[in-house]
Amino acid sequence: MAVPFRRTSTTRKNKRRTHFKLQVPGMVSCPSCGEMKLAHRVCKECGTYKGKEVVSK
Ligand SMILES: [Zn+2]
Repeated sequence: MAVPFRRTSTTRKNKRRTHFKLQVPGMVSCPSCGEMKLAHRVCKECGTYKGKEVVSK
């Protein structure tokens, strides 16, 4: 198995980790109540999807 010839410097390690970011899930605002919701999911605030109420409170 290959073994690293040199240890990775702190600068190089930190430069590599500039691409590590928190992933924000696809959030859209609900067309009926304006609340932020996950895309392609029923709104959990008002229970609507595509303008129709599908989940009653
Ligand atoms: Zn809503």
